[in-house]
Amino acid sequence: MMLFSLTPDGLQSMLHICYEYTRKNRYMYNASKCKIVVYNDSKPKPNQQKLQWLIGRDIVEEAESYVHLGITKDKYSTLNVNIDECCAKLRRTYFGLGETGLNSNTVHPLSIKRLYESVVLPKALYGCEVWNRLTSSQILQLERAHRTCVKNIQSMPRHTRSDITLSCLAVYPLETYIDKRKLLFFGQLCRTNSDKNLKRLFIYRLFSFINSPSDQIGFVPDLYRLFCKYSLKAVLEEFMATSHFPNENAWKTAVRKAIHIHVCQEYKSRGGDTQLETFKTIHCDYSSSILWVFSKIYSDQLLYCRSSMRVLCKFFGRRYTVTCHQCNILTENIAAHSILYCRKTDQYKQQMWKHIYKCMGAKNYQQFVSLEPDEQMLELLSGFVHISMNDMKRVSCFKIAVRYVHILGQYRCNVLNI
Ligand SMILES: [Zn+2]
Repeated sequence: MMLFSLTPDGLQSMLHICYEYTRKNRYMYNASKCKIVVYNDSKPKPNQQKLQWLIGRDIVEEAESYVHLGITKDKYSTLNVNIDECCAKLRRTYFGLGETGLNSNTVHPLSIKRLYESVVLPKALYGCEVWNRLTSSQILQLERAHRTCVKNIQSMPRHTRSDITLSCLAVYPLETYIDKRKLLFFGQLCRTNSDKNLKRLFIYRLFSFINSPSDQIGFVPDLYRLFCKYSLKAVLEEFMATSHFPNENAWKTAVRKAIHIHVCQEYKSRGGDTQLETFKTIHCDYSSSILWVFSKIYSDQLLYCRSSMRVLCKFFGRRYTVTCHQCNILTENIAAHSILYCRKTDQYKQQMWKHIYKCMGAKNYQQFVSLEPDEQMLELLSGFVHISMNDMKRVSCFKIAVRYVHILGQYRCNVLNI
């Protein structure tokens, strides 16, 4: 039960009413389990006695925060506690799942993704519908925890680029999942019966925001921002004009679609970075990577596809000079070095080229080897997207490519372990 009052006397009278009622009905409140949270508390003046709250004769202590329906709320109305809790829960739930055997070593990344979205995220984001005015550092903290999990799902190296991490598994940024839950919650409020007090309060707040937007902060302004962000304003306008709102399924579909379009557009329009532009030539849509789709169909290829994904992440990772453990040559791009240039693995490379030549035929092979070395590397890792051949040939060639990338990447050259 919660009691609200604008004044200390008001709250004390309410506590007294509660106490009187318990006496009549013969039950008791446990004062040690009750807490008082004072908002906008002014600093006590010297010699001023601290307020004392009583339920009957028992003292109720003041607290900095309280938990209501599983959501922690502090007296300063900041979200730091909630964000910390969310990040901890996200990591704990995801890695806890791994300990039960459902981890990236045993289960396909696309299957773990489904578990992550249907079990881990809902648990971690419980109550996020009421968060608003998240600061950029809080968003960054959330995204980091989220990306740690998504990288682990795909066995990616720690320093993999965020764009690659999320787009290869078609997982959205965490902020987007929060937005989605808020929009769905808004839909629930709109569909609530009009005779409920909750609905009346909601409608009052909605219309007072529309009439004077600058006077309000909190849930409604935040939702209005989301309607604009995902181009869903027409639905809100229709609701305000006719009080008609789409049913649950229709609204879910509309939100899912709008969010997907927004994330895809963001991904496609992000530019000014040659590495990302190059990556987009082999992964232009915000959908699961070809390596994951391929290994889902041919499950015996999963190990090789995992290694190829690690090489791909390394290839697009931060460039710094390292020494190849095999040939002692300094290189800026260890991924390309281990697959294309390392002298110590010449024997495997020759085998690879021979197999690929046999499989794709002289004409396609000529087209393939006429590409720049970096482009050849990308073709190997992407199922030869830019070379036209039939599906059967492509599958066979891709199987050869991922197997040799696995061997070359692993061959003492350490690229897979860095
Ligand atoms: Zn080398």
